[in-house]
Amino acid sequence: MTEDISPKRTELSELGEFGLIDRLTAGLKPFNASTLKGVGDDCAVIDHGDHVSLITKDLLIEGVHFDLSYAPLKHLGYKAAAVNISDIVAMNGKAEQMLVGISVSNRFSVEALEELYAGIRLACERYKVDLVGGDTTSSVSGLFISITVIGRASKDEVVYRNTARQNDLICVSGDLGGAYMGLLLLEREKQVYKANPQMQPDLEGFDYILERQLKPEPRTDVLEKLRKAGIKPTAMIDISDGLASEILHIAKDSGLGCRIYENKIPVDIVTAEVAAEFQIDPVTAAMNGGEDYELLFTADVNDFEKLKELKGIHIIGHMTEKAEGEYLISEGGSLYPIEAQGFNHMRDKQA
Ligand code: ADP
Ligand code: MG
Repeated sequence: MTEDISPKRTELSELGEFGLIDRLTAGLKPFNASTLKGVGDDCAVIDHGDHVSLITKDLLIEGVHFDLSYAPLKHLGYKAAAVNISDIVAMNGKAEQMLVGISVSNRFSVEALEELYAGIRLACERYKVDLVGGDTTSSVSGLFISITVIGRASKDEVVYRNTARQNDLICVSGDLGGAYMGLLLLEREKQVYKANPQMQPDLEGFDYILERQLKPEPRTDVLEKLRKAGIKPTAMIDISDGLASEILHIAKDSGLGCRIYENKIPVDIVTAEVAAEFQIDPVTAAMNGGEDYELLFTADVNDFEKLKELKGIHIIGHMTEKAEGEYLISEGGSLYPIEAQGFNHMRDKQA
């Protein structure tokens, strides 16, 4: 081991996840003309002449990203696959191949890992993705899952984060905040169970938000719907870290500002009820909760009429010039600056 002898030590918590990525990848320039997009979007984009490849990778760590006391292994496998497929969808592409790396301690049995793979295989089957390889190692403790997905799109189909334009409409699919409320519910029941193992978890009637947390679906159907309606988003991202963090990515990367209207943000009734129980504003759950894996996209104002007709697509605001900043407009018309809180594991958990 070489020891770091430089006098300055910067704590990870000072930078946070995105600051760290920026710092580690600063100044990278591609050597290959085929590298159309490197760091900084949902996927890397590789040129193959007639089409592009889309590549994404996610790493999931036990105790940081999942808790096996309430996330069944099959669900975990499904989710690990689904969130990667979602990044391909966020580029307006089709996921085609998957590589799965796992690192496991002897705490896990073969049957347990088969369960994990049953979930991965189910997602691959549903989204027609081929599991083509990976890597397997032992770990000192816990389970690590690293999934890479490769997708494809034609060059003119790809949608980036940084290509929104002033006055574009901001749209979101489905509803938001559910996955976060599902997580809070599972955490609460875990605490109740820990205090008294005789207590059965009280999760009846909450299927929707539990499913939002445990079994998210990449919105391939939304891409299909937009294609059929003849709408091509001008910029797009999937919502993994909460609406606030994602709209800031689109705005900042596109060199614009934005306005989002609080009363337009779609929230499911169960999400709202559980949020009330936890005394959390459902808008806060939508803005900062994360893991909903819905699509956030911008579209030309001329597509307004078409978008209005699409079920499950909500117009929640518009892009402005940069100088106007990024704001959430309350029902009463007050302006609140949008700040990214999201799931910043490095800040929240000192991971
Ligand atoms: P997403 O939430 O869509 O999965 P991330 O926020 O994880 O995306 O990553 C943002 C960008 O930073 C992506 O382009 C990703 O490939 C890149 N990235 C993340 N971690 C690293 C790393 N350790 N080294 C290089 N690039 C990274
Ligand atoms: Mg993403």
